Amino acid sequence: MVSNEYDVVVIGSGPAGYWASLIACVRGLKVAVVEERRVGGTCLNYGCVPLVTALNYVSALNLIKKLSDDVSGISLRGLTVNVAEMFKYVERNVSSPISDSMKKTLEDLGAEIIYGKAVLVDGHTANVGGKHVRFKKAVISTGLSWNPASNIRSCVEFTSIKEIPNKLLVIGANPFGLPIASLFGLLGSEVLVVEESPQILEGFDREVCEYLTMLLGDINVKVMLSTKLSSLVSSDKAKEVRLSTPDGEISVSVDEVIDAAHYVPRLDVLGGVNVKLRNGYIWVDEYLRTSLNNIYAAGDVVGTSLYANTAIVHGIVVGENVSGGNMRVKSNSIPRYVFTYPEVLSVGLTEDDARRMGYEVSTARQSLTSNAVVRGIGGGGMVKVIVDSKYRGILGVHAVGHKVVETFNEGIVAVALESTIDSLINTYLAHPTVGEELRNALIQVFKP
Ligand SMILES: Cc1cc2nc3c(=O)[nH]c(=O)nc-3n(C[C@H](O)[C@H](O)[C@H](O)COP(=O)(O)OP(=O)(O)OC[C@H]3O[C@@H](n4cnc5c(N)ncnc54)[C@H](O)[C@@H]3O)c2cc1C
Repeated sequence: MVSNEYDVVVIGSGPAGYWASLIACVRGLKVAVVEERRVGGTCLNYGCVPLVTALNYVSALNLIKKLSDDVSGISLRGLTVNVAEMFKYVERNVSSPISDSMKKTLEDLGAEIIYGKAVLVDGHTANVGGKHVRFKKAVISTGLSWNPASNIRSCVEFTSIKEIPNKLLVIGANPFGLPIASLFGLLGSEVLVVEESPQILEGFDREVCEYLTMLLGDINVKVMLSTKLSSLVSSDKAKEVRLSTPDGEISVSVDEVIDAAHYVPRLDVLGGVNVKLRNGYIWVDEYLRTSLNNIYAAGDVVGTSLYANTAIVHGIVVGENVSGGNMRVKSNSIPRYVFTYPEVLSVGLTEDDARRMGYEVSTARQSLTSNAVVRGIGGGGMVKVIVDSKYRGILGVHAVGHKVVETFNEGIVAVALESTIDSLINTYLAHPTVGEELRNALIQVFKP
């Protein structure tokens, strides 16, 4: 049975699908959004948002505890965290109301939200729970599917942990695993993160990653690189894990394991429709068109960069393009943030990338340790800038430290606008802030 015919059907309402739908509505199209679970997708309901909120609560608590320990005049000993209650509170007060308001925003703009799983029947029809939904154009923004080894939680289930584990193993030093490791490290768990590749956060600047690894050590999070899980035996009480490390096999015993490394794109939506794939993800061109000219794809399912911010950029670009626009994704200026403790930010080229691409490179770093805001919170940090020596253009900005994500927006704009160091040095930044350290780094770029 055909229920209706739409200009655009958006499948999946995470950051990519939400923004694509919102823009298509604003441009006057008749839009249907099909969502199997909750509006807002992984980021809002099971990923970044619950993590960032819980991290904010726990880091505030830790700051108070630290001040109390340092005999600063603030005395609040004996504070504890009931994680199960905290996660329920975050769900009730943050994720759920935001999901409702995103749904209402789309409905107010004229979108129809259809709950159910969509499977494409052909290039102009999707089947949702037995109903055929017809469309002129479709956007596939279905994200990832998590496939943890049996008996362990995947990273989208971290809020189902009821008690703070004494020892936690996280598989994957990536944007999914490291924020979870940070949260439980701050909560007092002894955390081990294992990563198959030789660097944490693939694609981030090496120096910044090394600095982050050191700071994670301060909250009891240890990272082992070039290491993978060989076997896991699980009982009610403990999990015995064997790890293959560069120095041979070792065994560890932990209370809890979270798998943040085993995922694939959600392609069951494709049904009988053939689109070209690349490395198992949906292939798209720079306008986010798939190999079928009326079907677009956006966000994690295209696999170019598995970050919430990339999904938002994709959503905006695809929303414009299904509405008759001609917008390209400028991948190089999309920032990536990871909500570790402290957080990391990367935009533009890393030093290694810039050298590989043949630029004459100058760099400068500024420590955040003596920044007034960072010093007040405790812990260190750094910002590093990558500059084209010939034309003085800012090629990349990379930072680790408290509040860097909120405060280094000037760096993001500078990379996107291809600014020179001189124009940014002449921009007057607020004081005392963390963000002003970007200028302090830039001033040092050509120091003798
Ligand atoms: C624990 C964790 C921590 C993270 N931390 C960070 C971080 O620090 N920084 C960062 O940038 N990113 C982080 N991320 C990643 C971020 O959440 C994702 O990159 C982002 O959500 C991708 O958005 P998306 O719209 O592509 O897909 P999703 O948000 O996954 O949305 C896809 C939606 O499609 C729906 N769907 C799937 N198939 C169908 C179907 N056939 N029919 C109908 N609906 C369907 C799903 O139910 C889902 O709602 C984290 C993720 C996790 C899990």
